[in-house]
Amino acid sequence: MAFMRRPAEIDGPPVAELTRRIMQRVRGRDTSPELKVRRALHGHGLRFVLHDSRLPGRPDIVLPRWNTVIFVHGCFWHRHRDCRYATTPKTRTEFWKEKFERNVARDTANRRDLERMGWRVLEVWECDVKKRRFEEPLLALFKSLDG
Ligand SMILES: [Zn+2]
Repeated sequence: MAFMRRPAEIDGPPVAELTRRIMQRVRGRDTSPELKVRRALHGHGLRFVLHDSRLPGRPDIVLPRWNTVIFVHGCFWHRHRDCRYATTPKTRTEFWKEKFERNVARDTANRRDLERMGWRVLEVWECDVKKRRFEEPLLALFKSLDG
């Protein structure tokens, strides 16, 4: 009855461990969209520092020479408007709504504080990174600043 063993394996710790790792990757700093953005900037010779904790919201990428900070936002957690990835889970809907509202409010406050400090604040969305739509607008901006 070899097949009887499978459910136990599936329900056991490996799944919990996998979930933990996925959640960590979702919330962690070095998410892959962020890496892609960094690589693109680096490839074009733009210098930046990472996660400057002295700045509101600890922006993912800080380009001091350009007075610019970049947040690489996950569409789900940061509620990318009209994005198909910004879904709301069907269970515990109220919990999620409140959580999302807090995230968005925090993002808005961070942006306002950073702009008051004289920073240009850019948001790059995960879905645009996936579809490689982020690179040209960013480079166009930096080129125009270089002018
Ligand atoms: Zn999106």
